[in-house]
Amino acid sequence: MEINLLTLCYLIGSVTFIIGLKMLSHPESARKGNLVAAAGMGISIFGTIFLYEENGEKLHNYGWIFAALVIGTIVGTLAAKRVKMTSMPELVSLFNGMGGACAALISVIEFKHITAAAHTDAATPYATYLSIFAGLVIGSISFAGSMIAWGKLNGRVKDFSFKGQQVFNMVLFAGIILLSAYLIFGLTPENQFLFYLVLLGALVYGVLFVLPIGGADMPVVISLLNSFTGVAAACAGFLYNNQVMLTGGILVGAAGTLLTILMCKAMNRSLLNVLIGSFGGGATGTQQAVTGNYKEISLSDAAVCMSYAHKVMIVPGYGLAVAQAQHVCHELEKLLEEKGVEVSYAIHPVAGRMPGHMNVLLAEADVNYDKLMEMEQANDEFKSTDVVLILGANDVVNPAAKTDPASPIYGMPILEVEQAKTVIVNKRSMKPGYAGIENALFFQPKTSMLFGDAKAALQKLVAEIKSL
Ligand code: NDP
Repeated sequence: MEINLLTLCYLIGSVTFIIGLKMLSHPESARKGNLVAAAGMGISIFGTIFLYEENGEKLHNYGWIFAALVIGTIVGTLAAKRVKMTSMPELVSLFNGMGGACAALISVIEFKHITAAAHTDAATPYATYLSIFAGLVIGSISFAGSMIAWGKLNGRVKDFSFKGQQVFNMVLFAGIILLSAYLIFGLTPENQFLFYLVLLGALVYGVLFVLPIGGADMPVVISLLNSFTGVAAACAGFLYNNQVMLTGGILVGAAGTLLTILMCKAMNRSLLNVLIGSFGGGATGTQQAVTGNYKEISLSDAAVCMSYAHKVMIVPGYGLAVAQAQHVCHELEKLLEEKGVEVSYAIHPVAGRMPGHMNVLLAEADVNYDKLMEMEQANDEFKSTDVVLILGANDVVNPAAKTDPASPIYGMPILEVEQAKTVIVNKRSMKPGYAGIENALFFQPKTSMLFGDAKAALQKLVAEIKSL
């Protein structure tokens, strides 16, 4: 029996993608999972370059192929090494946009091939045109949308909408679909140029679709665009009858869709609300006023309070990531444990700025995964906790989510830290968090504020505890 080596490469690629994805779901195996999938991708790429044959002919243009590989590898490695953890969604968005652009370019190139050869070839099946148009439209929307998302995340692009934009978007989208259908079934040499009108329409739609979406919802949109890119790549897989592209595309598409649903669920919002409303657009009425005085705690009092506690729960948030204080946070945890204090971490699913942000951050500092508690479990533990130390978290501990129906975050499940005996909040000021709203927790009698940058404050706290 003849074994097709290239098919074997693709099989290895597909299996490693599935294994890699499975391993990514646990912080301890995630790094290896990434390497496993990357190795499979490498085998598939080099298999294609050296083993692919059409009509007995191998690939040529090796100079171009390897030049592109080298440039891509250098740019990708440098970008990934230099990026700060807090800028990760930007990088993901940029890479995702490139994937969408690739899928759209494949459609453009194949369309040109097919139409150039049309007068000599037998009729091209409708399914081929369908794959070309689907890849073109979805890939272009993903590319244009991801570029706008990237610009919004780094502050270069501002929110923008005009009156009647939802209707305009819907009409534009319907126009793209109708024109694509017309061309799939009735392409002639005279109307071929309309293909480029579909491309232009999809690019404009991608821009208009993302422009009005509020900044806080960007990670959800990026995840959605990511799933679009997966589907566009799967279309290219159909086009080339390439199993590994198909498997990879379907996995990305499915994973992106699931992640989008999970993030919406964690914020207790529907996808429709994210796509057509600004953050918290559904809230009505006037928000409850947050009044009262807050009190501060000194470093030495905080050190005493924590050192003599039985049980301390740390709540990490976006500020911990900004301050890059995860390592000193782990040092504090070890120090307290040496003193016989039980320490664990309460992880809110949307703390930080991307899914799993806190898990990745703490894993970077070698915090034992068993110490991380998910929200439901942590909420059961707060009653028996002596001290909760909140490090740069705000929205995820805001009681307005439970008590104020007019609040933009009303309905979002939160960490119910107020059930603990004492709450210490570290942040730099009384400024609000991402949702832009006041937090009544900071004014409650059992709460004390420990102002300062998380890294500097924790370093001083560690020094104080050591000197006790
Ligand atoms: P928040 O954005 O609510 O609050 C972070 C707090 O950190 C701020 O109030 C800020 O206060 C403080 N801070 C900033 N820098 C520092 C520093 N160097 N040292 C100490 N504190 C600092 O963060 P949360 O993690 O509580 O909530 C995440 C928000 O992001 C939620 O609203 C969530 O819905 C949203 N979101 C998250 C997604 C995800 O996937 N994770 C997806 C979509 C949205 P100050 O300026 O006073 O220091």
